[in-house]
Amino acid sequence: MSKNIIVLGETRDGQLRNVTFEAIAAGKTMAQGGEVIGVVIGDSVQSLAQELIYYGADRVLIVEDEKLAHYTSDGYAQALQAVIDQEQPEGIVMGHTALGKDLSPKIAAKLDAGLVSDATAVEEENGDIHFTRPVYSGKAFEKVAIQEGLLLATVRPNNIEPLQKDESRSGEVFSVSASISDLRTIIQDVVRKSAEGVDLSEAKVIIAGGRGVKSAEGFQPLKELADVLGGAVGASRGACDADYCDYSLQIGQTGKVVTPDLYIACGISGAIQHLAGMSNSKVIVAINKDPEADIFNVADYGIVGDLFDVVPMLTEEFKKV
Ligand code: FAD
Repeated sequence: MSKNIIVLGETRDGQLRNVTFEAIAAGKTMAQGGEVIGVVIGDSVQSLAQELIYYGADRVLIVEDEKLAHYTSDGYAQALQAVIDQEQPEGIVMGHTALGKDLSPKIAAKLDAGLVSDATAVEEENGDIHFTRPVYSGKAFEKVAIQEGLLLATVRPNNIEPLQKDESRSGEVFSVSASISDLRTIIQDVVRKSAEGVDLSEAKVIIAGGRGVKSAEGFQPLKELADVLGGAVGASRGACDADYCDYSLQIGQTGKVVTPDLYIACGISGAIQHLAGMSNSKVIVAINKDPEADIFNVADYGIVGDLFDVVPMLTEEFKKV
């Protein structure tokens, strides 16, 4: 029953994103003792191959072309297709990121394969591979298995434990030649709106602000707490709509879906659309003036109080740790 599984490595600023290592762990389960083949696509990405092996890939394939320097669905689909043609895998897994959400349906449609998107767990049960995925905006979970054909899946960041990094692991690295034809989209420049700080979708700690933060300056205490905890700042749509922060920080049904170890919601009421993006966080702390706020229904710890008093106090206390 063993299978060969391709895991797509995702890069950002020349580094592999953590979700790659989580996808390798998922790939190991899907492979059922078969081979996990890491794939890195880009311009000059050879140096990243070893890292995939340390995290569990048995072999790594590199597809390099200057047209692949930035992600385009067109370019990556061609590159991945060259790997698929060569390896004839039984499964493909990648992160449920902006890239994975764009690329995976395209690949699934091309290969006429089923796609399990946004998996939060992958397990083997009686020889079948079962994927757990949230449905109805995270209010329920379903378990699905692909009974026949190619297994194609995306995994939600921060949910699947990566394998322990083992620098004694070795594996071969090969280049795959893919002739990338002219792309329909050419990325000329990347302008990042939230330039500095920890990547929100992979952050282990998120300090999120809502309309209760009251202004752009009101986010400053949240940023200070995030810095002390090595976390990222997020926001509700209420805060984004009020122009207190950029929409790239929005968490929720129409924003980013996050699963940090710690989510501190400051001045957020807990609307269902916000909960859809964060209710699976491992520990939720809510700070709100209103003891009846809905956010307290999903919080593990609730602090009824003014965030402008509570957040600086937390920052000072965490500084002492
Ligand atoms: P509010 O609901 O106004 O809550 C502010 C909270 O701050 C209140 O609970 C108040 O008690 C508290 N507060 C005020 N001052 C303080 C203080 N000094 N200290 C402590 N607490 C204080 N929302 C999202 O977040 N993400 C989404 O992706 C999203 N998608 C949507 C999609 C659709 C189709 C629709 C219709 C809505 C969507 N929304 C989304 C909007 C959502 O319904 C809510 O309007 C929004 O989440 C409210 O944001 P908020 O909690 O910051 O603001």
